[in-house]
Amino acid sequence: MRQRLVVGNWKLNGSRATNAALLRACVEGADFASPAKVLGVCAPFAYLAQLQEVLGGTAIQYGSQDVSRFASGAFTGEVSAAMVADFGCRLAIVGHSERRALFGDTDEIVAIKFGMAQAVGLTPILCVGESLAEREAGDTEAVVSRQLQAVIAAHGVKSLAKAVVAYEPVWAIGTGKTASPAQAQAVHAFLRGVVAEQDASVASSLPILYGGSVKASNAAELFAQADIDGGLIGGASLVAEDFLAIGRSL
Ligand code: PEP
Repeated sequence: MRQRLVVGNWKLNGSRATNAALLRACVEGADFASPAKVLGVCAPFAYLAQLQEVLGGTAIQYGSQDVSRFASGAFTGEVSAAMVADFGCRLAIVGHSERRALFGDTDEIVAIKFGMAQAVGLTPILCVGESLAEREAGDTEAVVSRQLQAVIAAHGVKSLAKAVVAYEPVWAIGTGKTASPAQAQAVHAFLRGVVAEQDASVASSLPILYGGSVKASNAAELFAQADIDGGLIGGASLVAEDFLAIGRSL
């Protein structure tokens, strides 16, 4: 059985006060969370200590939204994977489309970050996804396969045995437009097939999450698809009731 996950991506949101209320409600409502059905929260670096304080010892996993491609040294403003792990984190998102589009994260840099996360025992959540223009040009499969192959080329297909992939069509992120379950399933099956060509056993155990305007009202239908193993949740992860309802759809 593949692990199923619902992971919140808070993006650049939060304060110590609002986080405390949100996290408390998540802890109280996460009775369904288990090693097989993971509920996770990825917060800004500044709040990792708060996540450790509130979520440490609970069934909720937590992590960062990025890691530096460097291990240490003269890289002002960077936060290394080891520093993230030092707060008890288990997860690290890498290659989110906002980092790719706004902060220069190329496929090669994302692959380095993926390796940095794994080297310290974090589970990287590798985001892939096409823009609207790429979808309309019929390039969806070429784009997501290129993004995934960059990691396989750098670290080998076996590296995916300790990773999670998130398919996030850029046109569906924060837009209220969700990929239909059939559209999402088609890309998930394609991604699993790309991995299966190289290692069938890694492919069958690889969790592939869908992300892009997942809500309590559409999560169950998405998660019922054969190759959709949960979701990466932006906006709805900031409202405990919505986030927990999505988690209960696992
Ligand atoms: C995301 O940021 O990864 C995301 C999926 O955002 P949203 O759920 O708000 O579309």
